Amino acid sequence: MPTPPLAGGTAGPAALRPLIDTVLTALHDGAALRDGPLPAGGPDTVTPRTRTATHPLIPGHGTGPHHALRALVTALTEGAADPAHPHCAAHLHTPPLALAAAADLAASALNPSMDSWDQAPAATALEADLTTALATEIYPHAPSPDAVITTGGTEANQLALLLARERHGPVQTVCATTTHHSIARAAWLLGLPEPVAVPAPGGTMDLAALDEALTTLHRPHLVIATAGTTDTGAIDPLDAIADLCTTHGAELHIDAAYGGPLLFSPTHRTLLHGLHRAHSVTLDLHKLGWQPASAGLFAVPERHHLTPLHHHAPYLNADDDTEAGLPDLLGRSLRTTRRPDALKIAVTLQALGRTGLADLIDRTLATAHHLADLITKTPTLDLHDRPTISTVLFRPTGADDHTVATLRRTLLNRGHAVLGRAHAEGRLWLKATLLNPHTTPEDLQALIDLVTTTTEDLARTTTPTTPRTEGDTPR
Ligand SMILES: *Cc1c(COP(=O)(O)O)cnc(C)c1O
Repeated sequence: MPTPPLAGGTAGPAALRPLIDTVLTALHDGAALRDGPLPAGGPDTVTPRTRTATHPLIPGHGTGPHHALRALVTALTEGAADPAHPHCAAHLHTPPLALAAAADLAASALNPSMDSWDQAPAATALEADLTTALATEIYPHAPSPDAVITTGGTEANQLALLLARERHGPVQTVCATTTHHSIARAAWLLGLPEPVAVPAPGGTMDLAALDEALTTLHRPHLVIATAGTTDTGAIDPLDAIADLCTTHGAELHIDAAYGGPLLFSPTHRTLLHGLHRAHSVTLDLHKLGWQPASAGLFAVPERHHLTPLHHHAPYLNADDDTEAGLPDLLGRSLRTTRRPDALKIAVTLQALGRTGLADLIDRTLATAHHLADLITKTPTLDLHDRPTISTVLFRPTGADDHTVATLRRTLLNRGHAVLGRAHAEGRLWLKATLLNPHTTPEDLQALIDLVTTTTEDLARTTTPTTPRTEGDTPR
């Protein structure tokens, strides 16, 4: 076999074009074979089919680029849970915009690595400008807002706890029962005291309980508020929490992984009132920003807050290189080799503009409200609450938790819908996290119909005299 061509240089695009054509055909054919939000049959069907279609993974003699791309991309597409399908709505799993995926192709072809200027001259400049611009959206009045690109909310939350520890020593994290699990993991990773979780009775952090925790717990404190909880999309009372933090001398980190992009919507940005008062903010653009993973952000109001991340490696940021004016990027992440995720984000922001992004956000939130309306109008379904962002919890009226769990798995097994699950008010709910701006009212009605007819099916096929176990999935 001839030496395979490279993606870069002036010859790269010509080599890429036919390969991309093969990829696009495979993406199309795989989606047509699946014909739904996810493959039917569950792991018992999908795992062996994928194995058969992709073996041998390491053959003695290669099958060539077109064959391998066709085989593997078709298999992965046929077996995908595709967030571009309106009935794939379990998680904060975004359907990426085509233009962002196209930009990501350029990032892969050029392969700038963000750990030193000599691997990414222009990408360095772009990332620096983009992170400043995004940090300024969050902290419009701060002296020198800055941000670093992360792999997502998990890494950004880790940085929040790490930097608080570097400033104050072993901080006591105070969060809510609704806080994302990555906060507890970050405390564990960093050797910090286990977070204390205050109650969140209506889905948001209880202020009196927070006040009491800050009064009684050992200092220093790092309070974690959430703008868009994972289970319900609720937004903690950010301004009031910031007031309590000021009163008690606590630091505040706001995990706005989900809700942060509401900043771009003049209609909905008021939901984030108080966001700028945080010492640091987590924001994900691979959720309400329609980016392919990953596209996370960790923002601070003052550039120097990031100083503890500075790091020295003579081969990447030698003192004399830095003195001679080469930007020192190693301290912009805990990672070394790092993709230019700024490119797809910048392409998206420039292509859509503020109004285009606001329109996507407003459309998505309107879709969630429409789903809530339809549930309210369906006598056999109960709505948990009106959505704050785009998460809608609901359940069949009168169903027990076991039935709700079985219903969710049945929809998965049949390949009909990908819905999530969440506990609220002591019960299990189906969770629809709407992120697809193309979803129509008809799509939503079809989803409701799927849920109600599947519920009826289950009631018919389940003999009430036989006790069922969690794992049972009536077909
Ligand atoms: C998604 C999410 C995270 C985790 O982010 P990843 O990008 O998955 O690492 C953390 N906090 C909240 C509130 C989230 O929604």
